[in-house]
Amino acid sequence: MGILDSKVPAGPLANKWTDYKNHIDLVNPANKRNIDIIVVGTGLAGGAAAATLAELGYNVKTFCYQDSPRRAHSIAAQGGINAAKNYQGDGDSTYRLFYDTVKGGDYRSREENVYRLAEVSANIIDQCVAQGVPFAREYGGLLDNRSFGGVLVSRTFYAKGQTGQQLLLGAYAAMNRQINRGKIKSYTRHEMLDVVKIDGKARGIIARDLKTGKIERHSAHAVVIASGGYGNVFFLSTNAMGSNVTAAWKAHKRGAYFANPCYTQIHPTCIPVSGDHQSKLTLMSESLRNDGRIWVPKKKEDAIAIREGKKKPTELSEEERDYYLERRYPSFGNLVPRDVASRAAKERCDAGFGVNKTGEAVFLDFASAIERYGKEQAVMHGNHNPSKEEVIKLGTEVVANKYGNLFEMYEKIVDANPYKTPMMIYPAVHYTMGGVWVDYNLQSTIKGCYVTGEANFSDHGANRLGASALMQGLADGYFVLPYTIGNYLADDIRTGPIPTDTKEFDEAEKLQVDRLNKLANNNGTKSVDHFHKKLGLIMWNKCGMSRNAKDLESAISEIKELREEFYRDVKVPGDANEMNQELEKAGRVADLSLIHI
Ligand SMILES: Cc1cc2nc3c(=O)[nH]c(=O)nc-3n(C[C@H](O)[C@H](O)[C@H](O)COP(=O)(O)OP(=O)(O)OC[C@H]3O[C@@H](n4cnc5c(N)ncnc54)[C@H](O)[C@@H]3O)c2cc1C
Repeated sequence: MGILDSKVPAGPLANKWTDYKNHIDLVNPANKRNIDIIVVGTGLAGGAAAATLAELGYNVKTFCYQDSPRRAHSIAAQGGINAAKNYQGDGDSTYRLFYDTVKGGDYRSREENVYRLAEVSANIIDQCVAQGVPFAREYGGLLDNRSFGGVLVSRTFYAKGQTGQQLLLGAYAAMNRQINRGKIKSYTRHEMLDVVKIDGKARGIIARDLKTGKIERHSAHAVVIASGGYGNVFFLSTNAMGSNVTAAWKAHKRGAYFANPCYTQIHPTCIPVSGDHQSKLTLMSESLRNDGRIWVPKKKEDAIAIREGKKKPTELSEEERDYYLERRYPSFGNLVPRDVASRAAKERCDAGFGVNKTGEAVFLDFASAIERYGKEQAVMHGNHNPSKEEVIKLGTEVVANKYGNLFEMYEKIVDANPYKTPMMIYPAVHYTMGGVWVDYNLQSTIKGCYVTGEANFSDHGANRLGASALMQGLADGYFVLPYTIGNYLADDIRTGPIPTDTKEFDEAEKLQVDRLNKLANNNGTKSVDHFHKKLGLIMWNKCGMSRNAKDLESAISEIKELREEFYRDVKVPGDANEMNQELEKAGRVADLSLIHI
């Protein structure tokens, strides 16, 4: 194994990025027109990178497996994006965002990358506002902020519960401008299956046109992988069913090191599992913990009565409730970091205080917030002696303005009105912090192969801090990669177009064609989902919220057995040379079953 060189520039922490930018090699505008870049993934990280690189003058090809970049999983992000703007005047600064993020990342993130992230965070907000992203505003018109778990300031910018969607529309609009100029060629419904290396450098990819099944070769002077997270290894997660590891894993197989695959974020506020018919879990944004109070009954009898439907949570008095986060962590209360909140919920449920049928849920209650906001509103309207009904009506309006779409989503899924009865929540797999190792330049251990966003091993504190993943993806795409990749490409201005009729492309294509044919012709008896669900259960039970050596060892051997069974007995209907969604899934599940071993 080689030595990992982080390539962090010299000098004081706060000056590194500025000094770096002042001294890197640049590519002049005329030469940029002769350089091709492939961007795999057009979520926030890839979309932002593609738009910026094309704006700079490079020729960009983008790839995504959805029918439009707008459908990348980034669209699901609800709560918000951090930036050290200190609009609130509550003591925030670049240093504090840096400090919180490093601490939130359990001191595993690279400090120099995180400092740079905190530095450029404020630019992201300006950039997105300029694109027209409709961030929430206060009455006076200024951008609003809310706080997230694990921090003591309000630095999270948001667009109702749809922050990711609005940011993605901004990045997509920026991409579209370049598609229109012919600077981006957008390949939708295309899946990257391999990285092609020539003389040790990433020089292209093998992709499959998912509509026709055709295998294609694409060359470039550099390849950027922005393929998102792989939480789907747990089958049930808050990620889209398509979120997969294939691109990152294939880069790994070609020599890019992988870091921290054990490191998965379990989000504390998700709608609990309701049965074995589900293919996905739904996140209730962490922003809800700003106003929702988490509790379980103090007495086991009450928990049992609620589970059996003999008692309603609203019948329990304040004294009969255990607001266990407020009790155990008085300074952060309900806004403790995600891992702390998740473990505490599991601990209460394991101890027998869970409140849904399976005993794996706790309450997230808005009654206090509704009352507090209602009283405040009444006073603001000159009503100093409001009735209880008036208070609830006014308070409900405030809560609906802040979180309306999330409450609606909850009611649609659970069929219970969260304004009237507390929500039930439980932790679920949410974000993969492990990924492809990258240096300060976001370059992997394959020269010319850059990895950004959730697909890399993360600079940020997303294991515990919310709203830092969007920040990282956009920082990488808009403000970091466009500089660092130029420094690398400055050596390529005389290289000319990279041919695809070479032995390296032949070999990589053959490998993928053989693999697809093998899966399609397997003639087994069990569906891909059968194996995926089994993999997910092993992962959740033995490699989930709590882990020990014995379970991890048995998980490794169970997954090995499962993988052998998969190759023996998976059934993939249809052909490899046509549109075949089962085949797409089979390839992804095969890659997922390798990732943690
Ligand atoms: C429900 C939910 C809510 C969240 N809320 C927040 C929040 O409020 N704040 C926050 O900071 N973070 C949040 N996150 C995390 C954040 O949304 C993600 O980490 C981030 O959006 C990932 O962006 P990305 O660009 O790296 O990847 P993605 O948006 O997942 O994009 C991946 C792209 O790669 C493409 N792709 C993948 N594999 C291939 C392949 N083999 N070939 C071709 N294309 C491929 C896909 O088509 C897609 O275009 C949330 C996550 C979830 C699940």
